[in-house]
Amino acid sequence: MTNFNQRVLIAGAGPVGLVAANVLADAGIPVSVFEAETALPQTLRASTFQPSTLDLLSRFGVSRRLIEMGLVAPRMQYRDRKGWMAEFDFGILSDVTHHPYRVQCEQYKLNGLLAERLRKFSHANITFGARIKAVSQDSEQVKVSFSGPGGEGSATGAWLVGADGGRSKVRDEIGVSLGGFTWPERFLVASTPFDFPAVIPDLCEVSYFADPEQWFFLLRVSGLWRVMMPIGAEDTEADVLSDGYIQQRLHRVFDKAGDYEIIHRTIYAVHQRVANSYRNGRVFLAGDAAHLNNPLGGMGMNGGVHDAFTLADQLVAVLKGTADETTLDSYEQRRRPVALDYVNTITIANKRNLETRDPIEQRAWREEMTRISGDKQLAKEYLLKVSMISSLRGAAIAA
Ligand SMILES: Cc1cc2nc3c(=O)[nH]c(=O)nc-3n(C[C@H](O)[C@H](O)[C@H](O)COP(=O)(O)OP(=O)(O)OC[C@H]3O[C@@H](n4cnc5c(N)ncnc54)[C@H](O)[C@@H]3O)c2cc1C
Repeated sequence: MTNFNQRVLIAGAGPVGLVAANVLADAGIPVSVFEAETALPQTLRASTFQPSTLDLLSRFGVSRRLIEMGLVAPRMQYRDRKGWMAEFDFGILSDVTHHPYRVQCEQYKLNGLLAERLRKFSHANITFGARIKAVSQDSEQVKVSFSGPGGEGSATGAWLVGADGGRSKVRDEIGVSLGGFTWPERFLVASTPFDFPAVIPDLCEVSYFADPEQWFFLLRVSGLWRVMMPIGAEDTEADVLSDGYIQQRLHRVFDKAGDYEIIHRTIYAVHQRVANSYRNGRVFLAGDAAHLNNPLGGMGMNGGVHDAFTLADQLVAVLKGTADETTLDSYEQRRRPVALDYVNTITIANKRNLETRDPIEQRAWREEMTRISGDKQLAKEYLLKVSMISSLRGAAIAA
């Protein structure tokens, strides 16, 4: 049934590469994942799983595990410091999703579950410490060359999925560039066990605070609150990551007595960029390799996981002979507009609405959110959008 020519190569053992690998392995397709790091990275990055993504991941039985390891967030809020609040309850989506809530859980926990699941397949493997350096292809196959602590190597397959993140080497190798822009400010994320609900009334697990001086975003994960704030282009990384700076910024969120306990701190550049093409011949791009967006809305990793399911399902159909290769043309047609129009539009609007200093814009957005959250039908349409159910429906893949 399976032979060498059917092998799919995957660059990167992030959530996107590992989802694609699991879809292929489940279908009996031989798959080889190459990961530059010597073990699965444990860095604190995305932590929001949207309802649409939980529906897809339940195919692997991992949504239940994410719920056990994480925290169910049935509501989200937009607020300001003067007491205005618009709240949305994902329960309104219970007729369209098996998961009418977000789950807050660190993405490295998903990676651990997916890698563990892959181990049960003899036709799937992950090679750690294998950084892809070069990609070449002809009409029949694609070849990757890699190097790492174990030396140099190469592998050949029928198709290659470039899921090697924002600085994708695969993307460079196939001559695809990223269009778009990078915001001048970066984002700081600090995690603290401080009990914010004890001092901020009616706080729910996902709360966006609009403020012209310092917007911020409070997101709860197990045992911790993650606080996300913008930092100026002029601030150096060393300053921003210093205790003094973070304490000062957290005290602007809530001015408590004494210092905050800080468990993690991360600073990162924020982009709105989409690859000019998602495919060159036998090579595809997915996840951060194909698109980058600001994290206000929790769409980056989720959109990447949606890419992975779409592409891997198509590769399975082609490799099993139930669809011809022209099917693969629709991957870019389905997924690139989602990144370009849908995710970019929503995440850029989220940022602008939280930060605007214009009183007319502030009032208009607050009134709009109050109106939408107060109307059941409008609230449902809004949540279908922000939970990425409508983009998945538009891209027409089965949940
Ligand atoms: C610092 C940081 C913080 C973030 N915080 C948030 C957040 O708070 N909220 C949010 O929604 N999103 C956040 N994101 C974005 C989110 O983490 C990504 O959208 C998500 O990780 C994309 O998954 P991916 O699998 O496409 O790429 P990645 O998770 O980046 O995985 C790519 C993998 O490829 C490997 N790799 C790279 N180059 C090679 C190579 N040449 N050969 C082989 N392997 C290679 C990497 O080691 C990595 O394991 C953050 C991103 C960063 C960088």
